[in-house]
Amino acid sequence: MPYGRQSIDDSDIAAVVEALRSDYLTTGPMVERFERELAATVGAKEAVVVSNGTAALHLAVLTQNLGPNDVVIVPSITFAASANCVAYCGAQVVFADVDPLTGLITDESFDAALSLIDNLGYRFAGAISVHYAGRPVDLSHIAATCQARGAFLIEDACHALGTSGAQGSVGSCAASDMAVFSFHPVKTLTTGEGGAITTNDPDLARKLRLLRSHGIERDPAQFEGLGYGDSDDTGPWVYEMQALGFNYRLPDLNCALGVAQLKRLPQFIERRKALVAAYEALFKTNLSVSWPSPDAVTDPVFHLMAVAIDFTAGKPRAQVMTELKSHGIGTQVHYIPVHRQPWWQTQRAARDLPGADAFYRSTLSLPLYPDMTDADPARVVEALKAVLG
Ligand SMILES: *Cc1c(COP(=O)(O)O)cnc(C)c1O
Repeated sequence: MPYGRQSIDDSDIAAVVEALRSDYLTTGPMVERFERELAATVGAKEAVVVSNGTAALHLAVLTQNLGPNDVVIVPSITFAASANCVAYCGAQVVFADVDPLTGLITDESFDAALSLIDNLGYRFAGAISVHYAGRPVDLSHIAATCQARGAFLIEDACHALGTSGAQGSVGSCAASDMAVFSFHPVKTLTTGEGGAITTNDPDLARKLRLLRSHGIERDPAQFEGLGYGDSDDTGPWVYEMQALGFNYRLPDLNCALGVAQLKRLPQFIERRKALVAAYEALFKTNLSVSWPSPDAVTDPVFHLMAVAIDFTAGKPRAQVMTELKSHGIGTQVHYIPVHRQPWWQTQRAARDLPGADAFYRSTLSLPLYPDMTDADPARVVEALKAVLG
């Protein structure tokens, strides 16, 4: 049992085979269809699909035209890409601390990061919040502060497809400018590699589509001019490169898989919820693991079954993982605090973030994926009991 894996059935395979037999392997009709259906699923006006979640983060930040004095707040408990995207754009990161139990950014840790930016004399440009493990962050305070300061707010929603929280469906961008998803095989839905940005702002969507394809515009109505002053400016072959973009397109093949997987999303959500409920019931039987229950206003679809175990009281984590593996149970640690990473320490990112350190030292992700059987959580918990003693 791995900690996570994709679920591929015959409907997914048939969809990809059909796309392979069609006229389009890369930009084709499945791209727009996947975008339309994804936007409708999360409740946003627009979805722009790209080659992976990291590319989605990169383009989302790139639309904000950041400079070297601009600083973005990112929580330290996340995948490195949530912060790297800011560095790709030549701006700086101040890491925010997290709640030691949930791994989420808090209003207090956000405010502390903001004070630090103000005291250092940099410009607060925006924030990237992370719905870690699928647990939604209540963005009321962070969003209000970003708005008051003319700063952007991007949600890294890579763990949270299907989740709703205080601001409604994650990805609907009710309180943010953009939300970013990944369709890597361990995530809630997969396209192999793949990612998306959702937004309600049509100008942002247009910019994102330009940037994902070399910054090249092919619509003559949008042309800025090559300067010849005759039909060589506008002939049927003419395209204009209007921005420094990338090739971050998601092929039709992958989008066909995405459309097929979206049809199965309700089933994935139902399985994840049932498995988490089974784990929660088992944790009540005197097991020394902590799992903070979601509050009443949130309806999370968990991506990670990230529990807390006090490894200082018993066997060290490395030993627990090895022994679980010998029981056939795969586990993982999500995540090493990004501010501790050697490259980020060269970026003056080093700060004392006790919440992130405490979270890191106790976290362990147990298996959670839709193809697990109803009996599997009990197998995992039995093995945990045997190992933890
Ligand atoms: C998976 C993930 C990403 C990156 O997505 P890729 O598709 O692997 O590039 C970014 N942020 C978070 C929180 C993730 O879990």
